[in-house]
Parts: sequence; structure tokens; C-alpha cells
Amino acid sequence: MHEAAYDTLGLDARYVSLEPAPEDIRSAIEGAAALGIAGLNVTIPFKEAVLDEVNPTDRAAQIGAVNTVDFSTDPPGGYNTDVDGVRRSFAHHDVPVAGTEAVIVGAGGAGRAVAYALVEAGASVAIANRTTAKAETLAAELDAPTAHSLASLEDLLADAEILVNATSVGMQSDETVVDRGALHPDLTVMDAVYHPLETRLLRDANAVGATTIDGAWMLLYQGIEAFERWTARSAPVEAMNTALRSRLEG
Ligand code: NAP
Repeated sequence: MHEAAYDTLGLDARYVSLEPAPEDIRSAIEGAAALGIAGLNVTIPFKEAVLDEVNPTDRAAQIGAVNTVDFSTDPPGGYNTDVDGVRRSFAHHDVPVAGTEAVIVGAGGAGRAVAYALVEAGASVAIANRTTAKAETLAAELDAPTAHSLASLEDLLADAEILVNATSVGMQSDETVVDRGALHPDLTVMDAVYHPLETRLLRDANAVGATTIDGAWMLLYQGIEAFERWTARSAPVEAMNTALRSRLEG
């Protein structure tokens, strides 16, 4: 999707994947800066380690993970654009978040980004996780949200307007973490999982008449946010979306 954006805007740039050894992360960041690379996306297992090598935003520091590095400053800036990816996915679909009751399933990396995004956007958030203690830790960090076990999902969803699956359940499998009976037409259901694009959760949500947002939207908008930071240009959203979806569907 990044290269589709460079082509669309006529930018002489490349997006490549690099895999340094974990113990080399500091020299990898210094080397990228020395080479004049504009920015980096950072993924597992480096999102936490990179925090110590850059100047993270308050939000990236709170979340404890950097997924985007911008070398236009010294020291380089560290951002968490997954949070923007969630916010902009809801905005793209004209789904209001402020004042809603939202349920997040999952309290790992994706769950943390989703929780910060929905709390920042003014939702009243309940977090349910298989390991309840992790939901409690995240809820405590964010002050307002409540923490639950997965057994509470049906009750929580009865009055909810937003459901986000931020677990890996459904990834390359036809499983769901939420029973279809707990879904209803007044819900907007977002899945962070993007392999497959239509997870069982989203299929069930469509079947009951809920609004659905697949995981490619969050992936797209975290990338758009990074692109705009690196290039100071508005991203060609359609070209990036088309490229991303053709890759994910292919
Ligand atoms: P993670 O940090 O490993 O967290 C995994 C989460 O899934 C935890 O909450 C875990 O619960 C839960 N989980 C795993 N297996 C489960 C099961 N069988 N039953 C119930 N809960 C289960 O992973 P992550 O980085 O958050 O990623 C989660 C998913 O989001 C992945 O599919 C990833 O590809 C996707 N993702 C998408 C985007 C995007 O842009 N669309 C961005 C980031 C991640 P416990 O705490 O109990 O283990």
C-alpha cells in the first residue's frame, strides 16, 4: 500500500522489509538514520524495544509500543499509529464513537491500541479478556473502563453499540470469540483480524444486520498515518486501500 501511494504521487521512494537481530536494534535505528531513511514501521518483536531508542510521544510511551519511527527530528520520533488506525476506521465509516457503550475483547497489543483509541474518542469502554488480570491492568491504566472475563460478554453486549475483537481468535481459522446469539443489529462490529478479511465474527455480525468494519481498515489507516508523517503529504487513500485489499484477498 505504501508503494502504491508512492507511485500515485510520483514519489521516488521504496518501502522494504528488514529484519535485524533483536540485539542489534539500537545500531539498526542509528544506521537507518545515518542512511537518510525517512521512517520505519516497527512490528513484533521490536515494538517495545524501540521505545528506548527514540523520542516517543506520550501516547506511545503510555501504550508501551512504537510502531512508527520518523527520522525528520533528532532524536527520531516514536509514534503509535495503531491508535489512529482505529479512530480513523470508525470515522471512515461515519460511526460515532463519543458517548457510545463499547466492548473490546482482548488486552494484548491490539487491545491496548483499541482501548486507548476508544477512550480518547469518548466511548464508555468495557474490556473483556481470556486472562482477566490483563483486562484489569489495562482498565486501571485508562481510569474509566471496566474489566471483565469472557463469560460476561453476552451481558455486556446487550446494551452496547460497538464491539471490537482485538484477540487473535479468527485469524486463519473459522473461530469466533463472541457467540452469534450475543450480536444484534444495533452493533457496529470491528475485527482487528485481517486474515481472513471476513472472519466468522464479521460473517455472524452481517447475518444479524450489524454494521461491520474489517481488520484491513485499521491496517490501512495506521499506514496512512505513518505515510503522512513521513512524507508531509495527504495519502492517496483509495490507491492504498485498493493495493492493500488486493494483496490481502490474493
Ligand atoms: P497479542 O498481543 O498476542 O494478544 C492476543 C490477544 O488474543 C490476547 O488478548 C489473548 O488473550 C487473546 N487470545 C488469544 N487466543 C485466544 C483464545 N483462544 N481465546 C480467547 N482469547 C484469546 O496479539 P495482538 O498483537 O494484540 O494481535 C491480536 C490480533 O490483532 C492478531 O490477529 C493481529 O494480526 C491483529 N492486529 C491487527 C492490526 C490491524 O491493523 N488490523 C493491528 C495489530 C494487530 P490472553 O491475554 O488471555 O492471552
